[in-house]
Amino acid sequence: MAPRIDLSSPPPGSNNPNIDHPASIHRPMFCPEWPTTSSSGYKISEHMVNEPFPERKSFKIIMLGAGAAGIDFLHHARLAFKDDPDVEFVVFEKNQDVGGTWLENRYPGCACDVPSASYQFPWYPNPDWTMYYSPSKEIWEYFRRIVDKEGLMKYIKLRTTVAHAAWQETKSKWVLHLVERNDKDEVVKKWDEECDVFLSGAGILNAWKWPDIPGLHSFKGRIFHTARYEEGFDLKGKRVAVIGSGSSGVQTVAAIYNDVSRLFTWVRTPTWITAGFGQNEEQKATWRAHPEKYRKYRKMIEDELNGRFRFVLRNSKESDEAKLFAFNEMRSKLGDNTRLKSKIIPQTFNVGCRRPTPGNGYLEALVGPKTTCYTEDIGGITPHGFLTADGTEVEVDVIICATGFDTTFRPRFPIIGLDGKNLADRWADRAESYISLSVPQVPNYFMYSGPYSPLAQGSILPLLTLFSNHFIQIIKKMRKEHIRRLSPKESAMRDFVEHASLYLQRTAWADDCSSWFKQGKKDGNLIIWPGSRLAFFDLIKEPKYEDYEIEYWSKNRWGYLGNGFSTVEFNGCDISHYLNCELFPKELFLQEAESDDSALEISGDISKASGELESLGLLPDTPGYQVASGAN
Ligand SMILES: Cc1cc2nc3c(=O)[nH]c(=O)nc-3n(C[C@H](O)[C@H](O)[C@H](O)COP(=O)(O)OP(=O)(O)OC[C@H]3O[C@@H](n4cnc5c(N)ncnc54)[C@H](O)[C@@H]3O)c2cc1C
Repeated sequence: MAPRIDLSSPPPGSNNPNIDHPASIHRPMFCPEWPTTSSSGYKISEHMVNEPFPERKSFKIIMLGAGAAGIDFLHHARLAFKDDPDVEFVVFEKNQDVGGTWLENRYPGCACDVPSASYQFPWYPNPDWTMYYSPSKEIWEYFRRIVDKEGLMKYIKLRTTVAHAAWQETKSKWVLHLVERNDKDEVVKKWDEECDVFLSGAGILNAWKWPDIPGLHSFKGRIFHTARYEEGFDLKGKRVAVIGSGSSGVQTVAAIYNDVSRLFTWVRTPTWITAGFGQNEEQKATWRAHPEKYRKYRKMIEDELNGRFRFVLRNSKESDEAKLFAFNEMRSKLGDNTRLKSKIIPQTFNVGCRRPTPGNGYLEALVGPKTTCYTEDIGGITPHGFLTADGTEVEVDVIICATGFDTTFRPRFPIIGLDGKNLADRWADRAESYISLSVPQVPNYFMYSGPYSPLAQGSILPLLTLFSNHFIQIIKKMRKEHIRRLSPKESAMRDFVEHASLYLQRTAWADDCSSWFKQGKKDGNLIIWPGSRLAFFDLIKEPKYEDYEIEYWSKNRWGYLGNGFSTVEFNGCDISHYLNCELFPKELFLQEAESDDSALEISGDISKASGELESLGLLPDTPGYQVASGAN
């Protein structure tokens, strides 16, 4: 006979009748009776999905450099982490002000080499650029304005150099050694600071160096490197020598020609000088009043620049067209100067081998009556001038070295990874990275414009925004999934480097010219993005976590699932958000909506839906169910 069932009260089910039964009101309930630890020692943590690892709630991001990259990061980080007060970020900048490249480079003619409509952040368009290729100071003012308007200075510590960084595995932290200097360049403070993620915005074009010319420092007149030019230094009526015919040399020569009394310069290697665009002043008022019209214009410029990757490919029709155009331009501007034409017009490499500089006024200055342009090496520098290749001394008042930067990508201070090795040593022969972003064995470290980023094409600024978004996605995942550290797999980097090395052989970047993509050499390591800029943008839209080695705070990767609830169940969010979707079949839904407006309202209105549940007696007293209005 079946046992008698007592139907006078609810059965106990699996509940223990002898203990209190708390409800999940402001937070999920916890019952001490539940098992929490597995036989292997794995313990369930009582947090909800979306809450950080309880023992490491606070999270610090240190970024090196307050140039464009640091500013872009701060703009995005402020928005991305506004609801996560435990995330702290700070930027250390060695200079006395923000702006990086555009604070440091103030030589005559220094300007961006892509139109200003493109050389600006996509999220902060400026319709008021004074020039089509705006000058350095104006670009710096643009960055400074953003910092001031957005109140970013409170996150930036100026005059502070990151001198050493080492990953500490026992703490799962980076330990950075910092050195602060005063305005006399004296060290005033040294200290260590820890962080969970270390971002590098060190830039690639800021380790300037003097050229290796005998007697350089014996010169008694004024001598400048373009990256340390004394802003406003007057060259009127002076005899000036400009050494270097890269981008900064081209800009300097074109800009100073009218002022100087005599100009001496050197073109030792051929170079393609491309034409620049022009500027229409009247458009600005329209753009100011109609931001969408300005967006349309910016897109037009960007489309044109993005299309240029095609001419970088060897044997493409586009490369022939670009070459023909540049050839005709150069030939006509150099007039009947056969010596210069034969020296400067490249025979063995295509347009694009170097990053193109709009050389408006450069060729005209080279053949101008005030100019002497040498095509042999400089013989040396003397106290009063320089020596030509045949040893003749020429007196000058000023020497400007437009001789570029250390472009090896090697960090200028020790960065010690998980393997105890210094990144600069690992990169002594060749800088290698995982798709420009990160490096195996260097956990929680990410680079803006690292080796292999698409620096040869278009404006770098939109790229910086993509880097910020990429890194912020990774950091958010680290927070949510309780990731202790992550770094790319060696195999993922090796495969990428193999692909890149093979691919780059089809590009003009591998041609027979010296460029900063090859550390200023003809045969240096080519470490530039193997493909179009748009292909790179596509790739880094989101991280490929399958390429990463990931370690979690818990010994079980699913530890972050915690008590099985999501924070959305307790923070007042729409907990049936997945119903706010487009309805199909559309025709049917539209017919219904026309006859019954309320159907539309309910689908998008959670409070109304909750009200209806309440009228059915399901809210708010249903045990275990609570529309949350705050945390415990
Ligand atoms: C003359 C010139 C013209 C250019 N023109 C163009 C152009 O037309 N288009 C284009 O896309 N790009 C151009 N570039 C490249 C330019 O560098 C980038 O566009 C952009 O400014 C890079 O920004 P960044 O923040 O990455 O680096 P940077 O501007 O170089 O800033 C890096 C910052 O990091 C700081 N820093 C470095 N090391 C440390 C340390 N150890 N501790 C603390 N702080 C440190 C530096 O002081 C600097 O402020 C040009 C570069 C130069 C030099």
